[in-house]
Order: sequence, then C-alpha cells, then structure tokens
Amino acid sequence: MSARILDGKAVAAKIKTEIRREVEGLKAKGVTPGLAVVLVGDDPASHIYVRNKERNCQELGFNSQTFRLPATISQDELLTLIQQLNADPAIHGILVQLPLPAHLSTEKIISFIKPEKDVDGFHPVNLGNLLRGEAGMIPCTPAGIMELIKESGVEVAGKECVIVGRSNIVGKPLFHLLLQAHGTVTVCHSRTRNLAEVTRRADILVVATGQAGLVNGEMVKPGAVVIDVGMNRLETGLVGDVDFGSVLPVAGALTPVPGGVGPMTIAMLMKNTLKAAVMLNK
Ligand code: NDP
Repeated sequence: MSARILDGKAVAAKIKTEIRREVEGLKAKGVTPGLAVVLVGDDPASHIYVRNKERNCQELGFNSQTFRLPATISQDELLTLIQQLNADPAIHGILVQLPLPAHLSTEKIISFIKPEKDVDGFHPVNLGNLLRGEAGMIPCTPAGIMELIKESGVEVAGKECVIVGRSNIVGKPLFHLLLQAHGTVTVCHSRTRNLAEVTRRADILVVATGQAGLVNGEMVKPGAVVIDVGMNRLETGLVGDVDFGSVLPVAGALTPVPGGVGPMTIAMLMKNTLKAAVMLNK
C-alpha cells in the first residue's frame, strides 16, 4: 500500500480558478482587489515568497504593490507606511513579510494593520475571533491545511488530530480550526515526551517544526492523513519535516514537499485578499 498524494498544487489551482471568476464579478462593480506587501531587509527566502505573491496577484488580476525597504528602516517609518496603507481605499490586504529585523517589534507592527486588511490573520483581533469561532481573517497556512484535509476525504469530527509544532502562525491557529471541526486535538512541541507515542495515535497528523525528516514511518498510524508543513532548504533541495520515503507506505494520504502546503498557503492569501476587498466595499 502506498499513501494517496494530496496534491496541493492541483487543489490550489482549483481555488484560484474560483477566485479569478469572483474577481471578474467584482471588477464589473468597479473594484479590483489590491494587496500591499511590505518586505524589509534582504532575507533570501522572504524575497522568493514575495515574488511568488506578486506573480499570483498578476495571474488573478489583483493589483499588487510591493514595498522593498532597507533593513535599517525605523519602526516609526514603517508604522507611517502601514498607516497610509490602512487609509488607502485601493488596498484591501496588507502583508508584512516575516521575519522582520530584530530592531523592529513584530507584535507592534502587525497590531498596527487594520484588522479588516490583515490578510495574514495575525492581528490579535483576528486571532481572538478565531479562538471564539467568529468570522475573521484566518491565517493562510492553517486554512490551507484544512482544505488539504478536506481533499483527503477524511472527516475531522471525532478523529484524533495531532499537531507537532505550536507556533503562532501554524500550530496554534490550526489547533482552533481542528477543534471547531470537532477533532480531538493534541499539540506537541520540543518538550513533549515520547513524541512517537503521541504521533502514532493520530488519524490526522500535521507536522510543522522546521526539523527536516523529524517524523518517520514508525511514528505514523497506518492509514493516517499526514500533512507536512516543513520547508527546509538543504543542499540536496527543499525537504519537509516528514521523512517522505518511510511514511509513504504507512500513511493513507500524504502531502509532498514541495507541492503540498506551500501552494495552498498562497491560494488562501489570495482568497483572504478577495474576501477583504468584498467586505470593505459592502
Ligand atoms: P517555529 O520555529 O516558529 O516553530 C516550530 C515548532 O516546532 C515549535 O513549537 C517547536 O517547539 C516545535 N519543535 C521544534 N523541534 C521539535 C522537535 N524535535 N520535536 C517536537 N517539536 C519540535 O516554526 P513555524 O511554525 O514558523 O514553521 C515550521 C515549519 O513550517 C518550517 O519549516 C517553516 O519553513 C514551515 N512553514 C511552511 C509554510 C508553508 O506555507 N508551507 C508556512 C509557514 C511555515 P517549541 O515551541 O517547544 O520550541
């Protein structure tokens, strides 16, 4: 037996086709979704992500504006830019590419974005809405993971769900989404004892640690849905946090890296920007 591959690229393409159709309808009403991306400094991975976002905006007929700023920019200058973008009616989504240089307060800057334009879903208001199960912007990677789980055909309700990793951008928001879908959710982290014992319980296992190949076939329950969030750039290329070769014969469904969660994250960003454009023009 070999796991079914959950093709994130294909699912993302389907979502983008729907978005394109909705954008046409919105444009007919005189509104073009606009995304502003703020990139501070020279982190090479961040530059790749930002180019990808620009390309997606172009493909989908969005307006995109990218602000490439020097690593030396002051916090006040950055806050002024965000204030201008908050007030700009042509901009519906604002994304500050993380990580930021150490002299800038990520919390302060993210909290300064108008929650309605916070298409990353990292603003405390949006995270609070997520915790309460109310409508708001949902962080893109966890939202994309939920779509991939849907694609697997496995119902979350009543299932054992295990997330490895408790970051604010993946593990914690995903915990709430799986809980809302009625899963029984366990979150593991670097202090978890007997990790393999916990991961082996999972019907749905999501790994987001940044540790290449951390989860192998012996840590997976036969037939489980395994979602690999990891993006580790090694000399041999891009690999996930799941040891693909040993998990493939054990799992029921598995996401590849690349081509799994990554394309879904971008598709959900585009979806959030469209949603913001609709909401702000109601
Ligand atoms: P963080 O570094 O913020 O968090 C990593 C988490 O993994 C922490 O909670 C940490 O535990 C836990 N962890 C680390 N080592 C172990 C271990 N040996 N056993 C158990 N838990 C461990 O990472 P992110 O959440 O930002 O990202 C995780 C991975 O996902 C990265 O590879 C990143 O590149 C990728 N990513 C991919 C995205 C995509 O679109 N495909 C989007 C976002 C991230 P503790 O809290 O105790 O330190």
